Amino acid sequence: MTKSSQIKKKVPPPKLLRGMKDILPDEQLYWNVIRDQVRSFANDYGFGRIDTPTLEPESLFKRGVGDMTDIVQKEMYSFVDQGGEHIAARPEATASIVRAYIEHGMVSLPQPVKLYYIGSMFRHERPQFGRFRQFYQFGFESLGVDQPVVDAELILLGHRLCRDLQLDVRVQLNSIGDPKSRGVYLEALKSYLKDYKKTLCESCLKRLAKNPLRVLDCKEASCQKVLEGAPQTFDYLADDAKQHFVMLMEHLDELEIAYELNPRLVRGLDYYNRTVFEYWYDDEQFGGNLALGGGGRYDYLSSILGGRPTPAVGLAMGIERLVLLLKEKNTYPFMQYRPDVFIAQLGDQARKKALRLFDDLRTAGIKVRQTFTRDGLGGQLGIADKLGAKFVLILGQKEILDQTVLVRDMENGSQEVVPYEKIVKDIQKLIHKKDA
Ligand code: AMP
Repeated sequence: MTKSSQIKKKVPPPKLLRGMKDILPDEQLYWNVIRDQVRSFANDYGFGRIDTPTLEPESLFKRGVGDMTDIVQKEMYSFVDQGGEHIAARPEATASIVRAYIEHGMVSLPQPVKLYYIGSMFRHERPQFGRFRQFYQFGFESLGVDQPVVDAELILLGHRLCRDLQLDVRVQLNSIGDPKSRGVYLEALKSYLKDYKKTLCESCLKRLAKNPLRVLDCKEASCQKVLEGAPQTFDYLADDAKQHFVMLMEHLDELEIAYELNPRLVRGLDYYNRTVFEYWYDDEQFGGNLALGGGGRYDYLSSILGGRPTPAVGLAMGIERLVLLLKEKNTYPFMQYRPDVFIAQLGDQARKKALRLFDDLRTAGIKVRQTFTRDGLGGQLGIADKLGAKFVLILGQKEILDQTVLVRDMENGSQEVVPYEKIVKDIQKLIHKKDA
């Protein structure tokens, strides 16, 4: 079809793919708060940034996340590229990070190797509240050490990060033991579930045959009821795994982090062993517990991918859900973005001066905002107020003639006239006085 015939036929404009979203400037403020928070926590806890590609060999996730998981079986965006390679858009980042750890010989660095990431993930899930097909996660991974203090450090980090965003989360905790001792548990679980084949949902019947552990986190009411009496993983832990779990709980007690032991928590990826945890937030709009993030140990992932055995533990959180909650709660954790000064101008002459003043203030390190294209004073003061500006500098006809600036304190409404050539120094002093 030629371009002109397309125009005639009124082809509808292209739309977003289902489950995808644009993040517009108004929302970016929330994203920035979260990204800044992540970077600052990474700094404090000593994690180095890693960026891995969006596209990876499909086999990485088949081997790493597990061929039988929903993520790999049903949700992965995979394709064969022009060179005939089987490729997947990453559904999660841990497998990529372990690949990078092996590929770059990080095993020879001092352990633990502590890495963090922020990036988008892709899962072809049914879109719903807080669930997208492209979504962003940040995560922290600590590789090379099996001590429970590392698990505790990560659980602490995620908890504090939510707390600093004013989100009160409930830590869910479980230990699913090690593969070598899991056989006994799985036998007990299978033999319990066999009696309920008529009650279990269709997916769980399949899981029962192929991946019985996953039955534990089925959300269907009928399966939930059956699971109430199911055997629990921590009753089947081998001694060393039990001891690890007890020590982790002691660390959390010392930190006074409340946790709920949740025997059903198994998480949707095959690589986990021992510790698994999630952060839940009671959300009315969601109608229950919204999982903001989670993680666990994956001591066997490196060997599964062909590397040296490397104990490791990680945590991932979804940014969209955090943004949803920050918006829903209407909290204002943006004080660090609050401008010191807003410049309001009236008329062409003033606009010229205002652009210059903006540049002078910014160069002097003052946080300054403006809207050079707006006219009325009322509208500009409204914007300054919304941004939380401490002072508004008003430049009108009179100020241009007198070579002055009118400084308005937005907290108490007082105003003073300052000679233009003194404005940068004077406003610095005023800000300093207010912040003191
Ligand atoms: P997971 O990688 O499944 O353990 O997920 C960790 C966190 O990522 C979840 O708790 C969510 O906050 C977020 N997340 C997972 N899947 C999605 C999705 N489809 N859309 C939005 N956020 C997601």
